[in-house]
Amino acid sequence: MSKSVPRLEIRNLRRAFDGRPVVDDVSLRVMPGSVTCLLGPSGCGKSTTLRMIAGVEMQDTGEIYVDGKLICDTVFRIPPERRHIGLMFQDFALFPHLSVADNVAFGLKGAREEKRARVEELLREVGLARFIDSFPHELSGGEQQRVALSRALAPRPRIMLMDEPFSGLDNRLRDEIRDLTLDVLKQEDAAVLLVTHEPEEAMRMADEIALMRAGRIVQQGAPYNIYNAPVDKEAVAFFSDIN
Ligand code: ADP
Ligand code: MG
Repeated sequence: MSKSVPRLEIRNLRRAFDGRPVVDDVSLRVMPGSVTCLLGPSGCGKSTTLRMIAGVEMQDTGEIYVDGKLICDTVFRIPPERRHIGLMFQDFALFPHLSVADNVAFGLKGAREEKRARVEELLREVGLARFIDSFPHELSGGEQQRVALSRALAPRPRIMLMDEPFSGLDNRLRDEIRDLTLDVLKQEDAAVLLVTHEPEEAMRMADEIALMRAGRIVQQGAPYNIYNAPVDKEAVAFFSDIN
């Protein structure tokens, strides 16, 4: 597949609730092997956008493409479980009654040995090989998060959607997990759409930032460019709490 075909493309996506537009003509591309951050204040429509891409919320109008192929418009719709999309949310809990190995293997099909090999590979990548037979309650919050990342990546999703995945973690841990997550995502060559309301997180993790406000994308580009040439006063204010 040519590098110039976006892994994920959404075109003119719209969604209103009770007549109020929440996602208002959003278009966006995520290239293979890259991290795009959808960045904006709480309530601007980020999660709704992600939910439409995942297929758990239906758009009013607009199209979604994966590797150049239409997966959803207003008449045609591939169901969520066939979209090859990995999901990670803030409170995406592990199954408490399953071991770490079984949690990571949960979405995997195929022979037992193959599944085990994939689980071992991922747990090595996130630095948790020694916990393979542990249970979630034996792990710290940060370690559980790393298991959740492994679980989401196990079936080699074409796209990873991450909705504020680090906001439940304390500050000290967060930077470390952001860096580790980036390493693993690059190693797995995932195309990532990461939602956050924290400019600092977007600056740290994104190859590309899409700045969203009141349902619309108001600016899009490389983090450095967005930070150095904010589109308007509101964008300046939004970025002002980073040093
Ligand atoms: P964000 O993730 O950027 O914080 P959301 O996409 O969660 O924003 O929500 C955007 C707006 O849409 C909010 O005002 C929210 O209350 C509203 N909203 C989201 N889902 C629904 C729903 N199912 N019904 C009605 N309003 C909703
Ligand atoms: Mg949200």
